[in-house]
Amino acid sequence: MTYFNAHTHQQSEEEDCITLVNLEIQVRLLTDFPEPDSRAIYSCGIHPRAIPERWEKDLQTLALLLQQKKCSALGECGLDKLSDTPIELQEKVFNAQITLAHTHHLPLIIHCVKAFDQLLSIRKKHAHSCPMIIHGYRGGTGLTSQLLKENNLFFSFGANYSTESLKMVPPERLFIETDISPLSIITLYRQVASTLQISEQLLAEQILSNKKRVFPL
Ligand SMILES: [Zn+2]
Repeated sequence: MTYFNAHTHQQSEEEDCITLVNLEIQVRLLTDFPEPDSRAIYSCGIHPRAIPERWEKDLQTLALLLQQKKCSALGECGLDKLSDTPIELQEKVFNAQITLAHTHHLPLIIHCVKAFDQLLSIRKKHAHSCPMIIHGYRGGTGLTSQLLKENNLFFSFGANYSTESLKMVPPERLFIETDISPLSIITLYRQVASTLQISEQLLAEQILSNKKRVFPL
């Protein structure tokens, strides 16, 4: 059985896991990017909570990293209304990253806090939207039914989530992640499988097939 961890900030030592590790964007990554392998793949992006003044430079670095085809996803990126960064700047940086993801046919790992209306209106402006995975999804049932109407939108559940929302999401749109939680990915799979009343094996197979469909690299 193979477990796919759809978002974390650290490498995993766990057996039988494929981990999507989020790397902080840095120029040194251009020459020093870890080689993706059977246990770890990587995402990189500009986080809406930490948009530096040099963000245009970071965007160039990101474009070069994507050209090197070592990133499997762009992110985490998105919108955060609890952040001090002005929402206009967040939208600008997010839009630029969506365009970049389109160019490289990569999915986006989305960080979205209290800004789902803006997220949906930005998606509408990008006609052929690439897959978006809403990471650390904690929305309630109302938001979930609204988001389920969108194509190419996926939900990644972590340590905290609404059980009712989890039950609403079709298995083919589901991911599981540890993010910054100290819990093991295997524990989270066990919890989700028990909520959904399916076997861990079936859950793991489904998520692995989702990964193959959504992540080209
Ligand atoms: Zn994270």
